[in-house]
Amino acid sequence: MNVPFLDLSRQHKALRDEVLAALAATYDANRFCLGRDVEDFERAFAAASGASDCVGVNNGTTALHLVARALEIGPGDEVIVPAFTFIASAWTASYVGARPVFADIDLETFTLDPAQLDALVTPRTRAIVVVHLFGQPARMDEILAVAAKHRLPVIEDCAQAHLASYRGRPVGTMGDAGTFSFYPTKNLGACGEGGAIVSRRPEILAASRLMRVHGSNVRYRHDTVGYNYRMEGFQAAALNVKLGHLQAWTARRREIARRYSAGIRLADTAIPVVLEIGESVYHQYTIRHPRRDALREHLARLGVGTDLIYPAPLHLQPCYAELGYAPGSVPVAEEAARTVLSLPIFAELTDAEIDHVVAAVNSF
Ligand SMILES: *Cc1c(COP(=O)(O)O)cnc(C)c1O
Repeated sequence: MNVPFLDLSRQHKALRDEVLAALAATYDANRFCLGRDVEDFERAFAAASGASDCVGVNNGTTALHLVARALEIGPGDEVIVPAFTFIASAWTASYVGARPVFADIDLETFTLDPAQLDALVTPRTRAIVVVHLFGQPARMDEILAVAAKHRLPVIEDCAQAHLASYRGRPVGTMGDAGTFSFYPTKNLGACGEGGAIVSRRPEILAASRLMRVHGSNVRYRHDTVGYNYRMEGFQAAALNVKLGHLQAWTARRREIARRYSAGIRLADTAIPVVLEIGESVYHQYTIRHPRRDALREHLARLGVGTDLIYPAPLHLQPCYAELGYAPGSVPVAEEAARTVLSLPIFAELTDAEIDHVVAAVNSF
């Protein structure tokens, strides 16, 4: 049996009629850039996410850029970012000319380790980026306590954590702002690119709204240097359809994770644990194993697709060589990069496929 790491075509086949009808309506109304579909989606996504309001943009990376601009971070500033995440988390600093300062993670959650955070704060620190990686909420109370002590804003990168919550509080609503991605492979994916910003601070939302359309609220008057970061009508139309399925998809991801966790018996394997701070929404189901590469080859031979997310931490990326981080300088992130292996997890996986993955792992 072949189990793909991810097969989006199953979801898109099932939703074909529903999504194409929505796209046709948007087409017939010529609502291509912003417009009613986007406004409807912003309202619906804010409601689903427990947020007061939401600004739709063209992807999750530009959402982070707008928040960094709204917080007036710039050259000479430092932004603390976990070293184990997707690169775009660090662009939050780099796009505005600030320096990313890479923080280590804890291996249980794969998220920013609050115990090591305070030591990274300097007089130049201007913000902390927290990533709810793989759908697992980060340890927010401890992180927010450090942020409050130094009066630093917290940006929650929720690109992998739609509908996740920490001790009952929705991700994106605990810090100063939260950003989401609707890249097709995310838990909620557009038929193309999309992103969103939520915030409990109305001025951050207002600044983001202004900057996503060239810094202009009044035609041909530009109050600030802005961007073309509009969300497209087609993407919002597709997202409006898909948002209606997100709760069920999330429940199925959690069901698959429970089956994996109950079934995997391979020695020396660290499996995701369900913490009292809030259950993951399992953007990834990521295990760790000391012989990760051999395990991956074994699974490939048995037809099980896997991925290395992420094979290298950010502080050792070529683009940040000039920052001068040496191997060993952010050790837990490096250990994660050496040992992680992500198994297939998407709502349309069948029970037989799940059983095959479990048996394949256990036969290593
Ligand atoms: C996907 C992702 C992003 C970027 O989102 P895009 O929509 O692809 O620009 C940012 N941060 C994390 C953690 C992501 O996984």
